[in-house]
Amino acid sequence: MLQHYIHGDWVGSGAEFAVHDPATGEVVDRVVGGSTREVDLAVEAARAAARPEWTEDAQRRSRVLLRWADRVSTHADRIAELLTRENGKTLAESRVEVRATADALRFAGGQARMMEGRSLTLAPAVYGEVIPEPLGVVALIVPWNWPLLLMARELGPALAAGNTIVVKPASFTPLAVAEVVRLAADDELPAGVLNLVLGPGRIVGEALVAHAGVDGISFTGDSSTGRRVMELAAGGIKRVLLELGGKSPNVLFPDAPFEKAIPLLLRAMFGTAGQNCMAATRILAHRDCYDMVRQRLLEGARCVTVGPGLDPASTMGPVISEQQAEQIEGAVDAARESGARVLCGGKRLRDGVLAKGHFYAPTIIEGVSLSSSVVQHEIFGPVIALECFDSEEEAVQLANGTSYGLVAGVWTRDVARAQRLAREIRAGTVWVNTYLRTFAEAESGGMKASGLGRSRGRLGLYEYTEFKHICTDIADLSA
Ligand code: NDP
Repeated sequence: MLQHYIHGDWVGSGAEFAVHDPATGEVVDRVVGGSTREVDLAVEAARAAARPEWTEDAQRRSRVLLRWADRVSTHADRIAELLTRENGKTLAESRVEVRATADALRFAGGQARMMEGRSLTLAPAVYGEVIPEPLGVVALIVPWNWPLLLMARELGPALAAGNTIVVKPASFTPLAVAEVVRLAADDELPAGVLNLVLGPGRIVGEALVAHAGVDGISFTGDSSTGRRVMELAAGGIKRVLLELGGKSPNVLFPDAPFEKAIPLLLRAMFGTAGQNCMAATRILAHRDCYDMVRQRLLEGARCVTVGPGLDPASTMGPVISEQQAEQIEGAVDAARESGARVLCGGKRLRDGVLAKGHFYAPTIIEGVSLSSSVVQHEIFGPVIALECFDSEEEAVQLANGTSYGLVAGVWTRDVARAQRLAREIRAGTVWVNTYLRTFAEAESGGMKASGLGRSRGRLGLYEYTEFKHICTDIADLSA
């Protein structure tokens, strides 16, 4: 049974909950339930661990992160299999996630040694220093769709900057997260720097966010939960980093490199069964290439092999839960009723080996208006809206027409047009003639309702850093 990890020990007993394999319904493991008591203990441990041996020893933090990345790489196959069992994604997808997790930790290991401030001459004999300091205790709330990468992407810079941490994984996927946390154990990692608490977001997550001993919060998940986190954090005027939902448009012009675009978009549409905040959920094609794009996407969707993630033949796994499958079903039914055409999929898959899991067919819908629910709301499943436009202006208007602004794609060989659209589309990342390429060194994050702050890159480190100005008048200092 999985327990909490507090002050270097695995602890906790009492009420339990089960983690189920979304492909089979089988219990993968049991997990001890959490309460506000474990939150208090974990925050206390994290506060006590914020000592100079950690907060002021950048090289030590770097060594810890680099060795941790190596251990994650060494145990990649085992972690990937566990991730597939609790999350459902294919083994190939889990392997990609574990690789990216190790890479995020390794990058942060380098960043730890790049914590720079600056010095200023402000007036005669008055000197300023602007120095970086850690925020203090950071609460890290992680979702279930990419639990390892989304944890490491924030945990890496938060530790690199000298903070101490309490992680709260999603209740659907605590096992692989705990496995990665277990691999952090290191002679140079003081007990209490990294803690893990388990249990429901409504109780454990809220207690953590509202806790007076927590200085900063990093949350990735649903926009409505993000709003709640922000409300709770406001009580203590805490630093908040939010990465929330998306409804990401890909704009295709007739001169797009289609040979590259179509397979990449199919992966971005149906990878992790569409449960990706950056999924290519809206395909906007110019009228002159609309029919061709439609036909090729349909052909591609029909080639997707839906099945358990552990089966090497599967190219798309189940969705995370029965509730998620019902939510997807409801969204597609509502689109149908409002006059949209479901071109493929549009149903649960329950035959044979799929009977016990939460499988939904790859689905493409057309005939949707900008105001329709299927275009405006994140469905978080393998459901794509296909839209048509006639001009560049219309494409921009459609692309910007939702409350989200996480990522977007622009596909054209016209350099000037690509540059115009990349600047006019309101999204934290705009990919040109590529998609879903993320790098530890380049910032990502949301505009509008997709989030607050930036992950990755230099700014991702600053999200976990306070800058203090020390101003000294040297006239009265003695040597
Ligand atoms: P949530 O955003 O609610 O969950 C994400 C994390 O937040 C989990 O660790 C969860 O814990 C925790 N949490 C939940 N409620 C609170 C709270 N009140 N205070 C603090 N932490 C909280 O997503 P769900 O798993 O509930 O999924 C709901 C919908 O969100 C999905 O159907 C999907 O549409 C969307 N979603 C979007 C994601 C994205 O990256 N854009 C990621 C995940 C979900 P616990 O698991 O214990 O509830």
